[in-house]
Amino acid sequence: MSISAVPFITLNRFEDGFRDQFLKGVEGLFDNTQFVGGPMVAELEATLATKVGSKYAVGCANGTDAIQIALRAVGVEKNDVVLVPDMTFWATFEAVVNVGANPATVDVSRETLHWDVETFKAAIEKFKPKAAIMVHLYGWASPDTTAIRKAAKDAGVLLIEDGAQCFGTEVDGKSVLGESLISTTSFYPAKVLGASGDAGAIFTNDENLAKTARILVNHGRTDHYSHGMIGWNSRIGAYESLFLNLSLKHIDARLDSRREAVKYYQENLQGLPLKVVTAASNVSENGYCAVALIEPELRGALIETLKSKNIGFGTIYPGAMSLQSGAKDHLVGSIDNGNAHYISQAVLNLPCFAYITKEELAYVVAAVKEHFKK
Ligand SMILES: *Cc1c(COP(=O)(O)O)cnc(C)c1O
Repeated sequence: MSISAVPFITLNRFEDGFRDQFLKGVEGLFDNTQFVGGPMVAELEATLATKVGSKYAVGCANGTDAIQIALRAVGVEKNDVVLVPDMTFWATFEAVVNVGANPATVDVSRETLHWDVETFKAAIEKFKPKAAIMVHLYGWASPDTTAIRKAAKDAGVLLIEDGAQCFGTEVDGKSVLGESLISTTSFYPAKVLGASGDAGAIFTNDENLAKTARILVNHGRTDHYSHGMIGWNSRIGAYESLFLNLSLKHIDARLDSRREAVKYYQENLQGLPLKVVTAASNVSENGYCAVALIEPELRGALIETLKSKNIGFGTIYPGAMSLQSGAKDHLVGSIDNGNAHYISQAVLNLPCFAYITKEELAYVVAAVKEHFKK
C-alpha cells in the first residue's frame, strides 16, 4: 500500500489484544464499582515506582496537578520565587502561579535546548529563589542534569523536575525520574505513557515528601475526616489506572519503536538546512519526539511542503514563556539570552509515535529531501 499521508501523532496503534483486555478490565471495575482508588491504583503506583526506579510513586489527576503538588510538598508558599525554563509547556509556569508563588524565567541553551548549569547558577545568584523547576523536554534531559541538581542542593534551592515528557529517559546511565528530589510526569494521552484521559504522577525517594504528596492529592486528608492541609481533589481514577497498567506491559516496545523513528530521521536527514538535533551523549532518550531546527526564514516554506504532502508536524513550542500574554502579570524577572525565542521560531518536529512504520518514515524523509532539492 502506498502512503499518501503521515500524521504528526496518532494514538490508535495498539498492540493486538489491547482493546479487548481493556474492555474486559472495564467490566471488572464496573462490576466491583471500584472507580477511585483500590487495587488498580495500587498496582499502578507499584509498577511506576519500579519502572522509574524511585522509592515512591503517587498517582494524581494530571501532570499539571503533579507539579503543583510537588511544589507544595517541598514547601513552596505564597510569594516564593520559583525558577522555570523560558522554553517549556505553559503548565510549568502556570503551576507556580497556581500555588501562589512567583515565576522567574531562565533561558535555555541554544545547543541542548535545555538549561545549562552556568545560566542556572547565575539565575540563583540573581533571583535567590526558594525553588526551581527543571524541565526535561522532547524525551531528553539537560546534559547538565546532575550538575544542576548539585548546584541547587549546594544553594539550598528546592529542585522539582517536570518530567511530563521523559518517562524512560536516562541521564548518566540513571533514570531521570528516579534520581530527583521530587519529579512529576503526565499521562496525557499524547505522552509516551498515555492514559485514555488525564492522569499524572509524582516520584520521590523521600518518605516525607511522598507522604505529603499523598495527603495533598486527597483533600489534605490525614484521616478520612481529618484534614491537616489545604490540598486538592487530584485523585487518579481506576479506569485510567487500568489503561496505564495494561500500557506499561508494552512500554518497552513502544519506546523502542519511537527511538527507532528518531534514529531514522537522524541517519537519513543529514547535510540539509533542516538539522536534526540529538540528545546529548550522556542522555538516553525515550523517543518522545523528533526535534529539528531550521533557520526561521526557511521554516514556513518547508511547512507548506509538509502540508501539501499531508505530513503532520509540530513546533514544540512556538513561543517562549516570558513572551506569553498571560505571563506579564506574574513574571518577576527573567534571564533572556534570546535562545528560547530563537528555538521557538526555528523548531520543527516531524511525525513520531509508537509503531510508526518504516514506509511512513521514508515518506517523510523523501518529502523533506525533495523540498531542499528544488
Ligand atoms: C504535558 C505537559 C505538562 C502538563 O501535563 P498535563 O497532564 O497535560 O496537565 C507539563 N509539563 C510539560 C513539559 C508537559 O509536556
